[in-house]
Amino acid sequence: MKKYDYLLVGGGLFSAVFAHRAVKSGKKCLVAEKRGQLGGNLYCDSIEGINVHRYGPHIFHTSDSRVWKFVNNVTEFNRYTNCPLACYKGEIYNMPFNMNTFNKMWGVRTPAEAKAIIDRQRAAVTGEPANLEEQAISLVGEDIYKKLIKGYTEKQWGRSCKELPSFIIKRLPVRYVYDNNYFNDRYQGIPVGGYNVMISRLFEGCDIMLDTDYNADRENLSGMAEKTLYTGTIDSLFDYCFGKLEYRSLKFETEVLDTENYQGVAVVNYTEREIPYTRIIEHKHFESAKSEKTVITREYPVSWEEGMEPYYPVNDGKNNRLFEKYRELASEKENMLFGGRLAEYRYYDMDKVVASALALADSEFGASDE
Ligand code: UDP
Repeated sequence: MKKYDYLLVGGGLFSAVFAHRAVKSGKKCLVAEKRGQLGGNLYCDSIEGINVHRYGPHIFHTSDSRVWKFVNNVTEFNRYTNCPLACYKGEIYNMPFNMNTFNKMWGVRTPAEAKAIIDRQRAAVTGEPANLEEQAISLVGEDIYKKLIKGYTEKQWGRSCKELPSFIIKRLPVRYVYDNNYFNDRYQGIPVGGYNVMISRLFEGCDIMLDTDYNADRENLSGMAEKTLYTGTIDSLFDYCFGKLEYRSLKFETEVLDTENYQGVAVVNYTEREIPYTRIIEHKHFESAKSEKTVITREYPVSWEEGMEPYYPVNDGKNNRLFEKYRELASEKENMLFGGRLAEYRYYDMDKVVASALALADSEFGASDE
């Protein structure tokens, strides 16, 4: 008999949800986390009484009522609604692309007027869009593509929009109504008191090892449990034997400002190429925090190199094929489970991570209606 039923490699959201269900089912779990704290990229620092999203802004949104019910059972959510702005050469536009954006761009007032302009511009693309550029133009036309998409996307992904897959841009809604809510989902919010509260509740009842790199001590750590759930990067688990998967990484520049309200909204995207950061986050607006000061973060996309944090998988053909090879190796591993953004090499939103962790828990412990 081993001391633990599960070793959970990584202390992010996937592990946390799985851990919660495992503990509820009477299982003993040990968490091995490389960083000095739990929470993965949801982790927040508290600065001037403001929860600062250290690894980039996270807004929970979902249309999946099971997922929404599950997270609300763990912690209460506020009614934050994401309404980011885009700033192009000093001009401010509402996001996502909606009637407010079209009005500012062309002075049009009605959906029919906006549609007429976009239809004229999108005629430049014929047939099925072959890449992100064509997809974007066929969705919103050339003006919006040039001012609000091209520069931002090329900074974000470090390559031309012609070389990027079209699905990335399909994440963004296009609406012919005056509605600045970024997400189409039915439910949205931020945990009251911040994400750290939610994460520590999810891991309640588990033993935790921080500053522990699983890949440096695999046999020993896995030897302590009947099964291992691995949520780290899949290529590192196999010592990059087929080569490295590519990621985009981020650098953050965080500043405390002696002003109460810097930009009047949580997120402003800087969409021109010449500005090196993609966005400025003003964290207090996520939770309407009361403070005389404010904390802002400039976000700079960078290419990932070993030793940096991998944020976004680059799901182009080459990387996806490489991932398939690792996935095959992974499927041969006995007593090992896999999940989450890094192990599955998928550009997952948080709600999809929760749904997929719940599905894995269902298959391990039987369905639960929590
Ligand atoms: N995007 C853009 N302009 C913006 C915001 C987003 O062109 O002002 C594009 C960009 O290609 C980005 C994609 O939309 O990669 C998805 O954006 P989202 O906000 O979903 O990215 P995340 O918040 O996950 O980084």
